[in-house]
Amino acid sequence: MPKSTLFRSARQTAELWRKVFALLKNSQGPQLYLVLGLTILEVLFNLGGFIALKLMIDGFVKPGATAQTADLPLWEITFVFSFYLASRLTHAAAAYFRAAQGFLVCDFVNHAIQEKAVKTDLSFFDSPEYYDSLERARQAGPQRPAAVVSNVSNCLSSALLLTGILVVLASIEWRILPVLLIASVVILIVQLELMRRRFLHQRQLIQQERQAAYLGWIMTAQSFAKEIRLWCLGPFLNTRFKEKRRSVRQKYLMMERQKSRSEVAVSFIGVFIMIGVSSFLLRQYHHGTALISEVIVALLITLRAETAGRDLVLSLSKLYDDRLYLNQLFQFLERPAQIEDQPAPLPISLPRAPKIRLDNVSFSYPGSQELALRGINLDIHPNQFVALVGGNGSGKTTLIKLLCRLYEPQEGKVMFADHDAKHINLSQYRKQFSVIFQDFSRYAFSASDNIRLSEITKPKSVKSFRTATTQSGASEVLERLPKGDQTVLSNMFDDGVELSGGEWQKIALARALLPKSKFLILDEPTSAIDPNAEAEIFNDFKQKMNGRGALVISHRLSTIRQADYTYVLEKGRIVEEGTHDDLITHGGIYAQMFKKQSHAFQENDLDIALR
Ligand code: ADP
Repeated sequence: MPKSTLFRSARQTAELWRKVFALLKNSQGPQLYLVLGLTILEVLFNLGGFIALKLMIDGFVKPGATAQTADLPLWEITFVFSFYLASRLTHAAAAYFRAAQGFLVCDFVNHAIQEKAVKTDLSFFDSPEYYDSLERARQAGPQRPAAVVSNVSNCLSSALLLTGILVVLASIEWRILPVLLIASVVILIVQLELMRRRFLHQRQLIQQERQAAYLGWIMTAQSFAKEIRLWCLGPFLNTRFKEKRRSVRQKYLMMERQKSRSEVAVSFIGVFIMIGVSSFLLRQYHHGTALISEVIVALLITLRAETAGRDLVLSLSKLYDDRLYLNQLFQFLERPAQIEDQPAPLPISLPRAPKIRLDNVSFSYPGSQELALRGINLDIHPNQFVALVGGNGSGKTTLIKLLCRLYEPQEGKVMFADHDAKHINLSQYRKQFSVIFQDFSRYAFSASDNIRLSEITKPKSVKSFRTATTQSGASEVLERLPKGDQTVLSNMFDDGVELSGGEWQKIALARALLPKSKFLILDEPTSAIDPNAEAEIFNDFKQKMNGRGALVISHRLSTIRQADYTYVLEKGRIVEEGTHDDLITHGGIYAQMFKKQSHAFQENDLDIALR
């Protein structure tokens, strides 16, 4: 490895452990020092036990004394067992506080991940980087931070114990120290190299494991259940899953074989060292240059060193593995926000809906070369019903995301009440919009909660709840539910009920109509709703808008024709705009779409009449 790479890697490792220490300190404060103190005490009591054992044997095997004449070294025996007891007590206390530490860190890290995840820019979720950082950190499971804590403390305590053992050994017979030191360093280097290789293999396997997990999920998730049965996809998915798992398993087994081989090699080295050390000490004893107590304690302590060395290597290998997790965790937690408040954001206190304007806005998604929107100029006035029409992929949903500042435009501005939206307090700004996206969220909560989510921080208002559910048609859905608005909308839980797509849309529409926002933005709000119900929803839509500005995306021209003003999007550009009559007179895309839909409608009617 080149020297500069070695230094960089050492610096990165030091930086990583500085962050881990800061994380431990932030999550538990003084308890961290308590655990450190207990760990040091446990090691000291362990070593003290060996020294007391030596004194006890010395007391019993005095030169010239026989077994009959020797005094029983009561004090030394008491010391040996007191040290043993003290080491067990501190071990138990340290284990308890380490477990507590694990829980604290676990909750702290999971809370930090969740807090960051709900605040992070939407663009983050579009990038593969998301899967590499948050997704892996999340997939590692909620117990992972606790496992890191336990690995750090095991590593620390075995390293301390090994150092102490070396010091005690040096005081007994310093000449065996270099042999032990060299052997330990060689074993450690070999094991670390093996760990590094294992880590690299594991990293390559993550993709394959994720693919297998994805296949496993498809076979058990409700959303795929219909197609899997209708198209008999079971055997196909199962075979793919098995192939992936077999390949992953074979690679893991190969790593396990490598590990076993290295363990056997290490055990052989350990045994040879033990034989060498014992022979050397016994020879010393025969020559009268070593006491029997020194021989016994040196052998016992070398055996203990072997287990401490094993523990150290094991926890180091786990820590090596943790590095990937920790790096990704810190990368995610330290990720700077791209959309955030400027130093002194403008507050909003408007009694009425203002005008909003997209002023020459262009935008492309992160990592994409294509512009999703180009030079868009669009106005929504108070109490104005604006419609947005266009084919799939023309940029309609993207336009809404920019209006709500889920993304910032690369060019142009979003003007809100004649202010650049960038200067306005972000959370207050977003509260001005009631939005339903095509892929609105369906929560496994009660129907009432599903509707109230858009105003969850405000006190319940029966009146506005009733108005929103009546205007959206959701009241009829609620009436049919077994426990009314308290029915859980998912069959994931007992007594839950699954709704149809159209029924869900009515619930989502009620969610959007509930808050007293300044703009109502609906992205294909009635695509799954039958035409009669849709007509009812858009009947008196102006009254339902209640002074708000509205932007509605729909493919149904029966809805769109009621709009005050319509924009037609194609490939990210506004290609036509005007009132329904203007656009029909113009005879462009809108007029053609309208003609096609009216034809289809008439043919349908004729079909039904003929049957
Ligand atoms: P529409 O709502 O009109 O169907 P969208 O606004 O969803 O269209 O998409 C406009 C264009 O932006 C499409 O070409 C689409 O592929 C692309 N696009 C949409 N979402 C993303 C995304 N998260 N990342 C990259 N490209 C996207």
